[in-house]
Amino acid sequence: SKARQKGGFLFFNTQINQQVHKDLQVESALRLALKNNEISVVYQPQILIQSGKIHGVEALVRWNSEQLGQISPVDFIGIAEDTGLIHEIGMFVLEQSLADISYFNTSQEHPIALSVNLSPRQLNAPQFVENLVTTVSQHDLDNQLITLEITESLLIEDLTYASPILQQLRDHGFNLSLDDFGTGYSSLSYLSNLPINEIKIDRSFVDKLLTSSESDNLVRAIIAIGESYRLTMVAEGVETAEQLAQLSNYHCHIAQGYYFDRPLSLTDLSHKYSAKISS
Ligand code: C2E
Ligand code: CA
Ligand code: CA
Ligand code: CA
Repeated sequence: SKARQKGGFLFFNTQINQQVHKDLQVESALRLALKNNEISVVYQPQILIQSGKIHGVEALVRWNSEQLGQISPVDFIGIAEDTGLIHEIGMFVLEQSLADISYFNTSQEHPIALSVNLSPRQLNAPQFVENLVTTVSQHDLDNQLITLEITESLLIEDLTYASPILQQLRDHGFNLSLDDFGTGYSSLSYLSNLPINEIKIDRSFVDKLLTSSESDNLVRAIIAIGESYRLTMVAEGVETAEQLAQLSNYHCHIAQGYYFDRPLSLTDLSHKYSAKISS
């Protein structure tokens, strides 16, 4: 009926208004967050499956807002991308993690590696590559120890633009990782067209590795593809010993997930991993 249609439309409109209102609230709070030191970085270890030793860490951004409480990156990275704030946030995460991990490495016999998430939008910044190279050169961490993780679903819009920039990054020695691998529909064409040297097997496949033969088949297929392209293979979201054992059977190289560690503050990372390695 007309009345119901109208009611439905009103309801729909209200929901949109609420979402728009929430996004605007988040946007203005986010603008202040960087100034007010509300943004921080935590580190989730990546473990070499063969040896059980730490390979490196993934830097993950955190926002503890005075106004809004703890906000997940899932809820603010999209807004940061739409408003351009992603450039400042991305640069902050990069600077902070470079400082933290080069400091951490002073206590290590062998330096660990650092993975940083890159929004494809950041590639659009003028002089992105030059700025990155300059920033990294101000810290004591080789380019070869740095991996830039890029989510494939977001690359698609800008492939012809992104491709030469990714090549420049590789030429400077940075590693490039396709994040959430297998969830987009262009995964395979990316591998042959972009200078990628790592894939991260998405958590959704690792989750169902032991309960769904489809997921098991898919993980094996992804690893076979990774081997043929000679890529480093990282499994994300590893939560159990059984998942780890299966990934080990399939010769996956690196595992990351709650089974080993949640994302850790620099202090907790140092407590857990510095002592272990220097002893
Ligand atoms: P992602 O890059 O796929 O990061 C992995 C996410 O899975 C992280 O969530 C991590 O805390 C979580 N995780 C790790 N191990 C496990 C596990 O065993 N089980 C489960 N259930 N979850 C696990 P987080 O930190 O909330 O980050 C969410 C997403 O936000 C990231 O997904 C990434 O896409 C984005 N993000 C985080 N930090 C940054 C950043 O500095 N820059 C950009 N552009 N994006 C970021
Ligand atoms: Ca990632
Ligand atoms: Ca991921
Ligand atoms: Ca994921």
